[in-house]
Amino acid sequence: MQDNHDREWPAGPTNPNGRAWQDPTRAVHAGPRPRDQRGLINPPVDRASTIIYDSVEAYMDRHQGLYDEVIYGLYGTRTTFALAEAVSELEAGYATVITSSGTSAIALALTAFVGGDDHLLVADCVYGPTRKFLTDVLARFGVEVEYFRPDIGSDIAALCRSNTRLIYMETPGSQTFDMIDVPAITAVARSRGIVTAIDNTWATPLFFKPLAHGVDVSVASATKYLSGHSDCLLGTMTAASETIYRQLKDAAARWGNCASPDNCYLVHRGIRTLDTRLERHQRTAMTLIDWFLEQPEVVAVRYPAHPADPGHAIWKRDFTGASGLFGVQLDRLTPAETSSFFDNFSLFQLGSSWGGFESLAVPAWPAPIRDFPNGEADGALIRIHAGLEAPQDLIVDLDAAFGRVRAMRGGRKTS
Ligand SMILES: *Cc1c(COP(=O)(O)O)cnc(C)c1O
Repeated sequence: MQDNHDREWPAGPTNPNGRAWQDPTRAVHAGPRPRDQRGLINPPVDRASTIIYDSVEAYMDRHQGLYDEVIYGLYGTRTTFALAEAVSELEAGYATVITSSGTSAIALALTAFVGGDDHLLVADCVYGPTRKFLTDVLARFGVEVEYFRPDIGSDIAALCRSNTRLIYMETPGSQTFDMIDVPAITAVARSRGIVTAIDNTWATPLFFKPLAHGVDVSVASATKYLSGHSDCLLGTMTAASETIYRQLKDAAARWGNCASPDNCYLVHRGIRTLDTRLERHQRTAMTLIDWFLEQPEVVAVRYPAHPADPGHAIWKRDFTGASGLFGVQLDRLTPAETSSFFDNFSLFQLGSSWGGFESLAVPAWPAPIRDFPNGEADGALIRIHAGLEAPQDLIVDLDAAFGRVRAMRGGRKTS
């Protein structure tokens, strides 16, 4: 696994002055050029299971093409490879494997590197279903899973053992938005030959480039911002090196994981407007947070891009932007207040898969599944996804929700 550690990071396609294009430009053009697909601006949608061969010799040799050729529908068509190329360009990776969902990308990235009797270190703030996969599947196969505090930094060295194969991170963490010092952890991992992987769904490759911070595998749910329209599921695993890429591609092939061509097409289309959408999601999130902080019932906000967040310094150092998902911690709400708050919105919807155009608000209870709870037990944590609506309309909707709670508490602001 040495080949990925001291390599030069690809600059991506360069402009006429020999410099890398900016990310917004890359998002618009990433993937095969129209001249490589008969002039089509968008990639063709290939539907295929069977691929035919000209000769017995070509047929017998077909599996050598697993990593970069169309050999069987399961392993990807032109549509899949076009999207993989685009995502890899944005993540500044060696290559990307597209999977059926974010959850499958996580499961495959984990199984690609660990087996029986291996030790796995996992950030305590990972996505709930990631935790379920570790407990319900990997632990059954004899992998020892140990969770670490998201703020552990280089002290992770003390947890590394001779059989530690993988360190798995997610930042900001699901629900609690903890910031992890990624370069501190990858420096420890590199010195010991341990592979690192991270869930980069929240930031998208436009706002955080894990591989440039020493991570070996960046996984993401493309279901969220890359798709952007709440109508399809897809996952990505981007590798820092050829060795890692081959391990990921092998894992997807062996488990028979396959992405639908329609979903690949939709996500590729979503990437074209990703930068524009994220700019708006981010701006609206900040507007809503400033408003939330003026409400007496709000105890804290969790959005690393906001100076009030404890993870702000790391975010500022490593990230170039923020998306539209954040947490708000309120005074404890009674069950009746919780229902009244969430059940009666006009614009905000109660739904969990964020990253689409619409605003969402859901209650969250991270504490019960955590090894190291992060203060949220003292109140109600709500998770907001700032959609693309006019921010002032969203504030009207939120103001009414706080009004309902205040009315139940006696009709008066508690200031
Ligand atoms: C939603 C989500 C996933 C899972 O993605 P699916 O495409 O829904 O399977 C993984 N990680 C994070 C952080 C998510 O929010």
